[in-house]
Amino acid sequence: MSNQVIFHPGALEEQGGDLVQMGFTCDSCGKTTFPVYELCPFCSSEHGKKAPLSKVGTLFSYTVTRVPVGFYKPPIVAGYIDLPEGVRIFGQIHADVEAVKNGMKLKMETGVIWTEKDGTEVIGYFYTPYAKEGEGAE
Ligand SMILES: [Zn+2]
Repeated sequence: MSNQVIFHPGALEEQGGDLVQMGFTCDSCGKTTFPVYELCPFCSSEHGKKAPLSKVGTLFSYTVTRVPVGFYKPPIVAGYIDLPEGVRIFGQIHADVEAVKNGMKLKMETGVIWTEKDGTEVIGYFYTPYAKEGEGAE
């Protein structure tokens, strides 16, 4: 089995065999942040609860990059996804460029996002179009 690492510490956490994005909901102001900060960026409170974020969100805006960037091959679609918790997450969107529209529903998935030269697989999250009907997983 190859060596695997998560692309950024704290970005994903394992829960019940599943990788989830952990948010932090502040006890003082009630806002949720991602990633988890030591102090609430809205009110500086350090009291709150960590909880997994919703996997399905709504695309706020996106851009398409048509040149290679690092390990990524074009076209690279990336955008801001609004989650029900009030968090706006930046992520790549794995979909046909023509199928991507602002306001569409997207689902967070995890997997290998690039492989280092030494073979280490880097695990991260990305978004794919979410089909409302026939969706049984969540
Ligand atoms: Zn707060």
